[in-house]
Amino acid sequence: MTTFFSTSYRDARERFLAAAARRNINVDTRVLPDIAGLEGETLATDVARIGPANAKRMLVLTSATHGVEGFCGSGAQVALLHDDGLPALLDKLGVALLLVHAINPYGFSYLSRTTEGNVDLNRNSVNFAAPLQGNAGYAELHDLLVPPTWPPDEANIAAIRDYIDTRGQWAYQEAVTTGQYTHAEGMFYGGSEPAWSTRTMRRILADYGETCAAIGWIDFHTGLGPSGFGAKINVGDLPRARRWWGADVTSPLDGTSIAANVAGPLLSTLDETCPHASGAAIAIEYGTVPLTDMLDMLRADVWVRHHPDAPDAQKAAIRRQIRDAFYIDDDLWRGMIVGQARVAVLQAVYGLSRET
Ligand SMILES: [Zn+2]
Repeated sequence: MTTFFSTSYRDARERFLAAAARRNINVDTRVLPDIAGLEGETLATDVARIGPANAKRMLVLTSATHGVEGFCGSGAQVALLHDDGLPALLDKLGVALLLVHAINPYGFSYLSRTTEGNVDLNRNSVNFAAPLQGNAGYAELHDLLVPPTWPPDEANIAAIRDYIDTRGQWAYQEAVTTGQYTHAEGMFYGGSEPAWSTRTMRRILADYGETCAAIGWIDFHTGLGPSGFGAKINVGDLPRARRWWGADVTSPLDGTSIAANVAGPLLSTLDETCPHASGAAIAIEYGTVPLTDMLDMLRADVWVRHHPDAPDAQKAAIRRQIRDAFYIDDDLWRGMIVGQARVAVLQAVYGLSRET
């Protein structure tokens, strides 16, 4: 199982390219310009397509939309590349699989949730020409969330605890995670323009989806929910998503999801880019650690980014803690990732094959 999963972005990229080469797949590489990775490596999104050349139905699988969460999605993608029964099934059903590895390579390499511009890609696919959604709850909390020192002092810990005790855990989660466009150095920042990753994803969808009549999309995430369980969260056509993936597909719009209803998720680019295709999209959100611990690590994530002069040992320790909050280094957890990913992929492939 560990052969599918990696210990760094560089390692993940090597495993993905090696697994694609083993299948004689030509990888389409889109390099993030001008920025090297944490280990000095090239930062790139790699695209591998499996399945019949003329397939009009396609399932897209994306990893590392949230950078550090890529350890999970990359592992699932590499496992699928090693799945020797899959190509014949795709041929039989007339469905192609498009593996988009590390759509946010900067965040994956630097063990951060956001991009080189501190942009949360699931808040970035909005119309920047129109008024952006406000978030008064975040503005109220920002100074507490990103304190001058890390770890936070006693007064800060008490103030956050007090907020959760009086307003409730969900109110805290919603204020912090819904997204905001006012604090560029803050958490869940949606940016001020489409990020490189968002533009790259739109181009990939346009390039490969142009001739498709039906497109499915699974975007792999980690950090919310019970450890190892993959919650299916829909963006877009809910009835079709439930037809393909089952009754447990949840939606932030009807209150069934563990995630807040966010503006501008990356998955929403599917309808914009490929309006000619029918489609359905979900994020699979695999649980890792308790919610407040996960959010504390995202506070550390923005803190370390804006304190480049902090001691190297402290920065390295914080990055390791962030990775550990989004990737559980355990064979049971990894097995749950691969098993549920395979089920979701087969459900989508069969669902696509039945689209008229
Ligand atoms: Zn995520």
